[in-house]
Amino acid sequence: MTPDTPGLHHVTAIAGDPQDNADFYVGTLGLRFVKQTVNHDDTSTYHFYFGDGEGSPGTNITFFPWTDRGREGRFGAGQTKTTAYAIPPESVDYWRDRLESEGVAFEAEDRFDERVLRFSDPDGIGLELVATDAETAATPWEDGPVPAEHQLRGFYSVTLAVDEFGPTETILTDVLGYELEAEADGRRRYRSATGGPGSIVDLVETDAGRGQLGVGTVHHVAFAAESVEEQERWRQAFADAGLSPSEVIDRKYFQSIYVREPGGVRFELATTGPGFTEDEHLDELGERLALPAWLEDEREAIEARLPDFDGPTVGSSGD
Ligand code: ZN
Repeated sequence: MTPDTPGLHHVTAIAGDPQDNADFYVGTLGLRFVKQTVNHDDTSTYHFYFGDGEGSPGTNITFFPWTDRGREGRFGAGQTKTTAYAIPPESVDYWRDRLESEGVAFEAEDRFDERVLRFSDPDGIGLELVATDAETAATPWEDGPVPAEHQLRGFYSVTLAVDEFGPTETILTDVLGYELEAEADGRRRYRSATGGPGSIVDLVETDAGRGQLGVGTVHHVAFAAESVEEQERWRQAFADAGLSPSEVIDRKYFQSIYVREPGGVRFELATTGPGFTEDEHLDELGERLALPAWLEDEREAIEARLPDFDGPTVGSSGD
């Protein structure tokens, strides 16, 4: 018997220029810069986390900005096509105006009776804002450029692109406890049996061929595990399903296991704790380069190798 998954924990993607990346997610989308660290597996690369006012699980989109040339990714099967944030239905007009005034091209559509605004970030990563009254995991960021009532309210869903529904569907339903809820226009919608924020995964089929990881593509999608014990049960469940989950890896702010599902998408199971206040006060999240203890001795050399970055540019709320 596997535990119920409470939904999405974070989404991690590959950006290009770190300054453009932070300016967009903080300055345009109004997320808080909750952690500035390095990729623990490649310390010459930043790792940025953007989320709600407290960096709550279920709100964080994170990036490795790859500044080397010639590392563009290509979207295709086995990748996340879009990451969707929830907004209140009353905020749709605000976001139409804001995206327009920030020069972000978007398209609007109705999907499963909800209004969806679709657009891309500066590197071409697909994003959506979905108007919903569903419950939220998010705490407002009081000092942000977007008024609290209009701020993004945590993840709504991810849309995964696969060659064919079957293999990924089996993992979602038989292992992760998701249930097929709806299907329309070539899209299948699954909801975590637990419900709650960020509990939707959509699948779409693509004939684009296998995607290539690089700038402008999503690296992995993380689901939340409430505890290390629960995470270990997930690890066993993946192994029982014939997949090859990693060992538990200490990511400082959470413990992680990784597994590639048969459709090619890399999944992570991340614990909800200890969280981003592990090494910084809530008031000071993201203000300095945070390094885990095992890298602190190398701080000077690490800082010297990192690309130029001045912190996110945050304009006024304009009202
Ligand atoms: Zn991750």
